Amino acid sequence: MAGQEQRRRRHRVVLFPLPFQGHVTPMLQLAALLHSRGLAVTVLHTAFNAPDPARHPELAFVPIHEALPDEVTCPGADIARQLLALNTACEAPFRDALASLLLLRGRRGQDQDQGSVACAVVDGQCYAAVDAAAQLGVPVLALRTDSAATFRTMLAFPRLRDAGYEMLDELVPDLEPLRVRDLIRVDGSDADALCGFIARVAGAVRSSASGVVVNTFEGIEAPELAKIRRELSLPVFAVGPLHLMSRAPAEQTTLRAPDGGCLAWLDTRPPRSVLYVSLGSVATVGHAAFEEMAWGLAGSGVPFLWVVRPGLVAGGEEEAPPPLPDGFSEEIKNRGKIVTWAPQREVLAHAAIGAFWTHCGWNSTLESVCEGVPMLVQPCFADQTVNARYVTHVWGVGMEVGEVIERGIVAEAVAKVMVGEEGARMRERAHRLKMEASAATSLSIDSLIHYISSLPT
Ligand code: UDP
Repeated sequence: MAGQEQRRRRHRVVLFPLPFQGHVTPMLQLAALLHSRGLAVTVLHTAFNAPDPARHPELAFVPIHEALPDEVTCPGADIARQLLALNTACEAPFRDALASLLLLRGRRGQDQDQGSVACAVVDGQCYAAVDAAAQLGVPVLALRTDSAATFRTMLAFPRLRDAGYEMLDELVPDLEPLRVRDLIRVDGSDADALCGFIARVAGAVRSSASGVVVNTFEGIEAPELAKIRRELSLPVFAVGPLHLMSRAPAEQTTLRAPDGGCLAWLDTRPPRSVLYVSLGSVATVGHAAFEEMAWGLAGSGVPFLWVVRPGLVAGGEEEAPPPLPDGFSEEIKNRGKIVTWAPQREVLAHAAIGAFWTHCGWNSTLESVCEGVPMLVQPCFADQTVNARYVTHVWGVGMEVGEVIERGIVAEAVAKVMVGEEGARMRERAHRLKMEASAATSLSIDSLIHYISSLPT
């Protein structure tokens, strides 16, 4: 075993995350997993949203010295343009940093402590880095931090665009139960920029990647994974749910400091009595919708824990959380708790949580599935519409808040999911899904480790 481990540590894997919370988290979870299986790991990263090396003493961290334009770092920027600009800005610095690591191999030879670069694992949205690694002759695996279903929609996007689908409620052939309206969407975004971005992501996988790693598991996405395998003829490793498989503590991967005080508050609440509300790290809502959310929560009569983070309200303050509506705090004094950032995984695992009002980011969706918590879905952009459709129409573990966010509709939806019969049925199915998730095997991880360890260095 020790010999096998030493042999593997000669294999160094270079990781490169997209610098946003929902992408950094699964990449660092994968890093922990690869290291725990005996591989050496270097994380190349941007200075923007950089991970904290002190929290991962077992990993090597190397900044790439990028110069990001304002449109990448400025909150509220057009997301498609932001991702295109980020790719352009990171391409050369990433290539230089990876080339330096390869030179190190030349100088150090078979130095076992350092390990020689065997392959790179690059966030699939970083198409420029995927291409750059391949051009340097490094086998590159694209990490999909979204679902297999979302990845399928990205692969299909150029075809769908050419076919000119316009009817919003039409089912998309070969992507059912997704409707046109569920496809990756960024309202208000430049449609050409979005299509251009998705085409580049799909193109880089097809032309440069040696394989794909997806943060999902067969128990929920076997048909989607099978179709991707048929379509790409590449190894596809379904290594999720990464937060369970890696056993990396949540506080290791978070970019913000959570308010742990809410756990003590949850301790005082009866089982399944509290609604947890969070729209993740990036999604925003308009001022009017924010007020309707607040008054809907108040009107529901249900206790809640709500993450109101700085920047949640579009166009508001970026450094401070938005002010709550007048009179709201008084109204919910004994029934609600508001934090700027929650220890989400611990919250979802808490017995007091009855349901999760979520934007359906893929990490949040997986975390909820793994704790058997039913969901109220309010997808905002990107892959969230795809995830929401699977939550409501494939796994049956959630329902929509409503087409519009209005206090009466909100209060009704909250009551339905928390205390209604529909909610009880969703909770039962969520419990079964939790069992599936905890039974997810490490077979795919074993074959990923075997694949990397067999690469020449
Ligand atoms: N998260 C958290 N505390 C919060 C809100 C979110 O720890 O108050 C974590 C959550 O557990 C998840 C990640 O942030 O792992 C958000 O990722 P997701 O893919 O759900 O959404 P995104 O932020 O990328 O839209």
